[in-house]
Amino acid sequence: MAEFKIPKPLPLPSEDSKPYWDSCQRQELLIQRCDDCGYYWLPPSILCPRCMSTNFQRVKASGKAKIFTWEVTHQALYPAFDTPFHVAIVELEEGPRMHTNIVGCKNEDLYVDMPVELFFEKVEDQDWYLPKFKPVES
Ligand SMILES: [Zn+2]
Repeated sequence: MAEFKIPKPLPLPSEDSKPYWDSCQRQELLIQRCDDCGYYWLPPSILCPRCMSTNFQRVKASGKAKIFTWEVTHQALYPAFDTPFHVAIVELEEGPRMHTNIVGCKNEDLYVDMPVELFFEKVEDQDWYLPKFKPVES
């Protein structure tokens, strides 16, 4: 008898966030840049959070970032996740901060301002890629 495994939850893209999630499936991270003030932002929205302009471009992020803050999760609130895992907010080189996971790092090696780089992890048994970060190899 096959073992039942609870699937991991997936994003539910809205009309505004669909271009972002579509880019992740191509393994690119698109962020928005205001044509009027030059501000970069995440999460996706229909106007610039700085100047309220609706003139913007979606541009590919460099993938370079540093850890703004992090935690080690030892007790998952949803049973599909194996613990421990690292939840973090990283600051992209372009400026926006995003919620993500840090992968490939021991708990004790995490620190604020740690350089990390983007990669896309395929969700197990799903046709989805999610943006995650790993330590920059020196
Ligand atoms: Zn703006």
